[in-house]
Parts: sequence; structure tokens; C-alpha cells
Amino acid sequence: MARIAFIGLGNMGGGMAANLAKAGHDVVAFDLVEEALARAESRSCRRAASAAEAVAEAEAVITMLPAGKHVRAVYEAEVIGKAPASAILIDCSTIDVATAREEIEKARAAGYLMTDAPVSGGIAAAEAGTLTFMAGGTEEAFKRAEPFLAMMGKAVIHAGAPGAGQAAKICNNMLLGASMAATCETFAMAKKLGLDLQTFFDISSKASGQCWSMTSYCPVPGVGPETPADRDYEGGFAAALMLKDLRLAMEAAQSVDAYTPMGAEAETLYARFAEALGGGGKDFSAIIKMIDDSWQAEAE
Ligand code: NAD
Repeated sequence: MARIAFIGLGNMGGGMAANLAKAGHDVVAFDLVEEALARAESRSCRRAASAAEAVAEAEAVITMLPAGKHVRAVYEAEVIGKAPASAILIDCSTIDVATAREEIEKARAAGYLMTDAPVSGGIAAAEAGTLTFMAGGTEEAFKRAEPFLAMMGKAVIHAGAPGAGQAAKICNNMLLGASMAATCETFAMAKKLGLDLQTFFDISSKASGQCWSMTSYCPVPGVGPETPADRDYEGGFAAALMLKDLRLAMEAAQSVDAYTPMGAEAETLYARFAEALGGGGKDFSAIIKMIDDSWQAEAE
């Protein structure tokens, strides 16, 4: 049984911490929100009064926080210098590559091994323990983190050097955002051209236009496998989180002077849908409603 500190018990962290406790580990948990702490306690975690208290004596420290500023604040004030130097530090939050690299370097300078290990998979996968982790860091850091990550996921992949986990995550999600927008506009056009949408799905999912956004996550209700589109776009991966990831991707693209016009267009579309039109809480495939409506408005 390992002693694991878990900080950030929200939509994702709550299920992840519960899975570690279920596997028989001593999980000492902290969140700023009382309700999240109480839920973790009811799922066999022990509560700590602060992040610093949670990490004292921990063999592994796992964080699942909203963004880079939270990760920086927690690691600099309450983890580095407070956790034993033998602890492996694992940040599973989705944050910017630059902050991930800086925090891993600060941890290294203080004698710690640390990895950035963001996830693919949403709240249901966090609950079920079927997340995919993409981890950045040294070989030694990855080897130490892997057994802990394996208890919360179905796949753990070493993406490369420090920050490579975050880089892989935002590259993947930039492709996902752009491919979902392209899938939505394609179905909107197919409809206007008078195609039966199930028939078009059957053709395109076996032809060269095939992609995950169409085949596994079709944005059209009643077409293809069951997806959030069949539940009025509830659950799944929120459009606001897709927008967050696209913004991180654009920030990263700028930092290395990468030309990403499709990613930039996806960011513009998701900003309009999630912020100007208030669709942030809906699944990201709900952007089809905006694409369809705007085309109809233009046609009138
Ligand atoms: P969330 O907002 O539900 O949870 C974050 C938790 O962190 C909250 O409970 C908050 O109180 C806590 N927190 C913030 N600052 C803290 C601090 N200083 N000390 C302790 N706790 C603190 O967010 P989430 O949906 O669980 O997402 C967490 C991360 O996972 C994000 O980076 C997100 O982008 C990423 N992610 C989310 C999903 C998803 O489907 N929700 C999927 C993949 C990745």
C-alpha cells in the first residue's frame, strides 16, 4: 500500500482519487472546495487540511487542477520542499507547455522527479479508470509514475522529455477540434445537398473522409453509434474545455512559430460557440448547431 497525495478533486480528480483508494492505497486528498473533499472522504480517501499536509510523507503526489496558474501556485507553495524528496510528482492537469517545463525544472532543482501526465478521456473514463495518459519527463520519472497512472487508466505512454505530455495532448486536441468542425460542416452541407445522413455516414465512414469525429463520435443525432448528440449534447467533453485546449494549442504554436490555420479557425469557431453563444457547457460536437444555423441564416 502506497501513500498517495491527491490534490484537485473536481470532475476528473474525484474519480481518479477514488480509483487509487479502491486499489487499496492510502489516498490523502485535498481540494479548496468542501463538497469535493466530503465526496472524496465518502469514497475511502482521507482528508487533509491543506495541500502541504497532504503531501507530507507521500510516496506519490498527483495533481488534477484547472490550469497552469493553479499548478504553479500549488507546486511552488505547497509541494516542492514540503513533500519528501523521494516522492514522485505527477501533474495530470492540462496546462501550457511552458509552465509544465518550468515546474518540472524547479522540482528537479529541488531534488524531485516530476512528470507532466495529462489525460485523454473525460469524466466517465476518470470514473471507470480507463483514461489514456501521455507523460513527459525523464525515463526515470516515467518509470516511477507509470504504476500509479496505470491504476487510473487503460494506457500510459511516454511522450518524451519534460512538457512532451502537454505537447502531445494539445496537438491531439487541436486535430480533434479541427476534425470535429470539419465533420459538422460536412454533414450540414450533405443535408443541404439532399443526402440521407445515415447513408452518407455509411459511405464516408468507409471511404477516405473517415475520421474519429465521424465514425466514433458522430455529431448528428440518430446517425452512427450512440454519442452525446443522442442526448441533446449533454455529457461528453464540454465545448468550453475544447476551447481551453485550442487556446493552449495556439499559444504553443506561436511559441515555436508553427503555421496552424486550421487550428486557428477551430479556435475562432469554438470561441463563438462557447462564449458568444453560451454553448460552453454542451458537448463539443454541439457546434454543429451553430454551423447549421449560421449557414441557414446566410442563405435567407
Ligand atoms: P474541475 O474544475 O472540475 O476540478 C478542478 C478542481 O481543482 C476543483 O475541485 C478546484 O476546487 C480544485 N482546485 C483549484 N485550485 C486548487 C488549489 N489551489 N488547491 C486544491 N484544489 C484546487 O476541473 P476538471 O474537469 O476536473 O479538470 C481538471 C483538469 O483536467 C483540467 O486541466 C482539464 O482541462 C483537464 N481535463 C478535463 C477533462 C474533462 O472532461 N473534464 C478531460 C480531460 C482533461
